[in-house]
Amino acid sequence: MERTFLAIKPDGVQRGLVGEIIRRFETKGFTLVGLKFLKPSRELAEAHYDVHRERPFFAGLVEFITSGPVVAMVWEGDGVIASARKIIGATNPLNAEPGTIRGDFGVNIGRNIIHGSDAPETAQKEVSLWFKEDELVDWQPDIMRWLH
Ligand code: ADP
Ligand code: MG
Repeated sequence: MERTFLAIKPDGVQRGLVGEIIRRFETKGFTLVGLKFLKPSRELAEAHYDVHRERPFFAGLVEFITSGPVVAMVWEGDGVIASARKIIGATNPLNAEPGTIRGDFGVNIGRNIIHGSDAPETAQKEVSLWFKEDELVDWQPDIMRWLH
């Protein structure tokens, strides 16, 4: 089953959007398989954004990501990588459609609330960068069992 890495950035945590954001992925029908709350080290933030190392915003981006706690998550489901990117919306909140997380809550490209892996290769790389294998939980949602 496909997995993706999502992280609620420090602005999303500070603005009290953790529950709202998790709710959107839960109600869509995806399955949470990993979750941790941490203040990322500089080393982790730089490795995560390694592809942007040469970009002018890299230093500020690493500063921002390491500035406060983030909610790091792994979600599972059919097509979850592309679907999560859709739910998240365009990188610049100005271009993100209303109804998407960035469209509904984001204001500035440097404060765009949430990260989501953009492809299968980056998803795999990011999941293993942020989580150890034994921190991911293999489970099947089984709603009926908890209703009766
Ligand atoms: P996405 O997060 O949608 O995959 P990118 O991979 O292009 O977007 O960029 C990674 C992150 O870098 C963005 O989410 C945003 O926080 C930051 N970023 C991108 N472009 C800029 C920019 N021009 N100025 C400031 N921050 C930026
Ligand atoms: Mg990206």
